[in-house]
Amino acid sequence: MDWIPFNKPYMTGKELFNIAQAHFNGMLAGDGPFTKSCQAKLELMTGAPKALLTHSCTAALEMAALLCDLRSGDEVIMPSFTFVSTANAVVLRGAKPVFADIDPFTLNIDPMAVEQLISSRTRAICVVHYAGGCCDMGRILELAALHGLLVIEDAAQAITSTYQGRSLGALGDYGALSFHETKNIIAGEGGALLVNSADQVLRSEIIREKGTNRTAFLRGQVDKYSWVDIGSSFLPGEVVAAFLSAQLDGCDEIIKRRMDLWLNYHAAFAELESIGWLRRPIFHSECQHNAHMYYLLLRNVEERSGFIEFMKSRGVQAIFHYVPLHSSEYSRCNGWDEGRVLPVTDLAAERLVRLPLWVGMEPFQSRIIQAVGDFFDSR
Ligand SMILES: *Cc1c(COP(=O)(O)O)cnc(C)c1O
Repeated sequence: MDWIPFNKPYMTGKELFNIAQAHFNGMLAGDGPFTKSCQAKLELMTGAPKALLTHSCTAALEMAALLCDLRSGDEVIMPSFTFVSTANAVVLRGAKPVFADIDPFTLNIDPMAVEQLISSRTRAICVVHYAGGCCDMGRILELAALHGLLVIEDAAQAITSTYQGRSLGALGDYGALSFHETKNIIAGEGGALLVNSADQVLRSEIIREKGTNRTAFLRGQVDKYSWVDIGSSFLPGEVVAAFLSAQLDGCDEIIKRRMDLWLNYHAAFAELESIGWLRRPIFHSECQHNAHMYYLLLRNVEERSGFIEFMKSRGVQAIFHYVPLHSSEYSRCNGWDEGRVLPVTDLAAERLVRLPLWVGMEPFQSRIIQAVGDFFDSR
């Protein structure tokens, strides 16, 4: 019996050809032709005025935190149900993460919880587009405007997803995308920062180039480059961009094939949902998701452990997701949990399980669906 892993990176076939091209070009540092073409493609796809490739989404989030000029005493409201990079970016600037609960339907940050946590020290709201879906972004942008806050979108999972027809990641001030091999579009390790206000573009290029105006120099806009601001090295090399370029060209096809798999799961589990054995994913009515993830919410943590074990015995790797940040050891010793209870976050953390979803698993999907059915038949 073949083992069906949770994820298997899909390659379009054009990646090696592009890498050979980068090799032939003899330009291997960043900002070469492949970097530029990837950025142009991302700008076209998202409508963001500027896309900058980075070596990860983590790096893009760190750039966003630098661009927001976060400092000690500042607070950034974010979900606890997220990956550590969302919080680390803020903490690295000396600012404090303030954890908000999520909405029970979309599992995305609850705008009502955000509103209650806004204080005189709040500088920004960082939303996370879980499973490639989003919360009521209209409400978040309204709150931000009302209180003079910046909005960062952790859109690591959300490439091509939209809210009211506009790309996630291009709605707030900054958006961070991931091209990690577990995401829809991959580069091994890779990411991009979407800079949505034209007046921050120059500074974001400087921050990415170790605090120098090298990018403007390469464009011939200044005759030498030097240290002009704080910064670091966030720029990937051309080999990574060459790989990514092939993936971006295959984007429509990749998302379509993922969506077919996603919809098969969704149809297959409708009945189990109707009899109350599990809950299927729900998206905000104005959000179009990108088939990044198929998760199920089971009834309790014991059932989930049993489910994961059962699936394993059937050769299927099903896995849970985040350990909420507010209850992590690091949060507690820094006092960031503030004794706050986040019941929806805790429920999602205990009950959520993710099923394999990758291009190429089409021949195995019926076996996974069968195994899920058998697990509940045995209850
Ligand atoms: C994957 C992910 C990240 C990290 O992305 P990297 O490219 O690996 O740095 C950050 N936030 C969320 C929500 C993610 O899913």
